[in-house]
This record gives sequence, C-alpha cells and structure tokens, in this order.
Amino acid sequence: MCTVGGPMADIKMKKLKTKRCKCLDCGNEFKGLGKRIICPSCQSENVECSE
Ligand SMILES: [Zn+2]
Repeated sequence: MCTVGGPMADIKMKKLKTKRCKCLDCGNEFKGLGKRIICPSCQSENVECSE
C-alpha cells in the first residue's frame, strides 16, 4: 500500500468546465455545467451564462 496524498489529491481537483450563470427569472446565481443549464432554484431554462 502506498501512502495517500500528494499528487493524487490534485487529480481529483481537476477543474470542471463550469460557467457562471444567472437565472433571469429569479435572479439566482449559480455555477452551470453542461449544455442544458437550468436554474437549481426555480428550474427555469431562462438562464444567462458567461465563461
Ligand atoms: Zn431561477
């Protein structure tokens, strides 16, 4: 068994492609992932995103 820690921890932290999104319906700001982004608060697809 190897000791855990070091480089292995970094791999898990690999950046996902998240976008900063804002719901135009309720004003909720959240991080969006994927193509079809919906507001987690009101499930609206009326969302504006920026990279
Ligand atoms: Zn919303």
